[in-house]
Amino acid sequence: MALNPSDLIRPEILSLKAYHVADASGMVKLDAMENPYPLPADLRDLAAGLAHQTPLNRYPDPQAAQLRRAIRQHMAVPDGAQVLFGNGSDEIIQLIAMALARPGATLLAPEPSFAMYRMIATFCGLRYVGVPLKENFSLDPDEMVLRIEQYEPAVVFIAYPNNPTGTLFDLEAMMRVVNAAPGLVVVDEAYHAFAGSSFMGELPRHRNLLVMRTLSKLGLAGLRLGFVAGAPQWLGEIEKLRLPYNINSLTQAIATRLIDNVGRLNEQAAAIVTARTQLARALVDLPDMRIWQSHANFILFRVPNGPRTFERLKRRGVLIKNLHGAHPMLDNCLRVTVGTPDENVAFLQALRDSLA
Ligand SMILES: *Cc1c(COP(=O)(O)O)cnc(C)c1O
Repeated sequence: MALNPSDLIRPEILSLKAYHVADASGMVKLDAMENPYPLPADLRDLAAGLAHQTPLNRYPDPQAAQLRRAIRQHMAVPDGAQVLFGNGSDEIIQLIAMALARPGATLLAPEPSFAMYRMIATFCGLRYVGVPLKENFSLDPDEMVLRIEQYEPAVVFIAYPNNPTGTLFDLEAMMRVVNAAPGLVVVDEAYHAFAGSSFMGELPRHRNLLVMRTLSKLGLAGLRLGFVAGAPQWLGEIEKLRLPYNINSLTQAIATRLIDNVGRLNEQAAAIVTARTQLARALVDLPDMRIWQSHANFILFRVPNGPRTFERLKRRGVLIKNLHGAHPMLDNCLRVTVGTPDENVAFLQALRDSLA
């Protein structure tokens, strides 16, 4: 007799909800922390030429040697640190979790933070422990150290700056966590381009520290490329789990040359930071509004009725992210990605109308 999925699929998977990506066709799309600017025309021509030359009948370089050189050169990876690539940094989180998933192993992260930490812990059979941030969304180092001593996590993930709060955690609080953790500490620097602060330079001093980056928020979300840097003793083991061709030939070729031109992407990031400041000022002026200072390319804010405002914005053609219900500390919170100046004006107008 044939069995049903519910007989065979792990119960923790059956009880998950599939990750929902909202349909944004025809909308002002400010929900996913994408760079709103297209690649400059000359770089698009460069990418087109590379696509033309790439031999698609051949498998990609499993070591991604050219890409590795470009990353080491332009991303300040310290000598002695190893680099591992992922199909987006999401895949790297998964590789790390898979490698550490011994029976009873724990993945610990502050909360609210990136939803994938909990989801991937569940996929891989790790126990997940979330440690609440303080009321102002700063890191609570006493509570973190207490929980680290209690659960002895195999890995601690900290997004720096944090998503969805935009907070850049205090350096001293971060170092207390790094020094207290018995296992790996992964500092997830997905928003590095907007923050100007990094743990990359700390790698030589902390053998259990890994620093993770992605090209997604820098304007290349469609390429799917993330990397993590850290001690070869760790990354050599995690590398064994990486599928040999996880970074496709087009991504390797195009990312290599675009990283050689990363200054151009950083110019766009600087424009987004300027727009973020303007958007934050406009938001602060709205009635009954609470906003949190952001060091990323989005802003978290709270309105009297989050779900209602979200739906009204949607009806006006503006898609942002509704975080109400995602975590008790995010009641009535919404997150808007910083767009082009025109998109931000359209969002603000729609928001004023939606709050009325
Ligand atoms: C967006 C994001 C990522 C994932 O980025 P990829 O597109 O998978 O590289 C990782 N961490 C945080 C905190 C993010 O916000």
